[in-house]
Amino acid sequence: MEFKISELEREPIEFDLELAPGVIDLGTEAEQAGQLAASGQAEVLHEHRGPKDIVADIRLKGRFSGKFQVPCARCVDPVEVPLAADFDLIFRPAAADSEGLERSITAPETEIGYYQKDSLLLEDVLREQVLLALPVRTLCKPDCKGLCPRCGVNRNSQPCNCEVGPSDLRWEALAGLRGRIEP
Ligand SMILES: [Zn+2]
Ligand SMILES: [Zn+2]
Repeated sequence: MEFKISELEREPIEFDLELAPGVIDLGTEAEQAGQLAASGQAEVLHEHRGPKDIVADIRLKGRFSGKFQVPCARCVDPVEVPLAADFDLIFRPAAADSEGLERSITAPETEIGYYQKDSLLLEDVLREQVLLALPVRTLCKPDCKGLCPRCGVNRNSQPCNCEVGPSDLRWEALAGLRGRIEP
């Protein structure tokens, strides 16, 4: 869904939609499972920077919710992560701040983004909001045993015979020594 500044100048636009998996490309960080619901409103805010310098910002306010699959940080098995978040964002035309000099910042600018040309794509905003809402580190269970660093087996589902521990490291050191001593 595209919010055109020319249309927003006439009146705010409300949205309430569901996006199928694949509409938003989340890269390798997560996979969307089921519909992603998003609703809210877009409107124009005029920033009066001077008598003849008025910048048309887009304010996008709304919420999203959906389920995502994220790889476990230890065993890379997919873990289902439900996400829901509110957002209230300001987008400035990309050209407005590209004059080299940074304008004095009076309000906290953490939520300011930019829109290219004359429109803002809702899908782009949602993609960023979902990625921001993802947990930094996801585990399939608190005591996930992870993958064996030697044979790659998932140690949650299958024990492996690789011994990894202090005794193992000692043996390796010995083996290395023997290799050097032998002619
Ligand atoms: Zn795991
Ligand atoms: Zn192993």
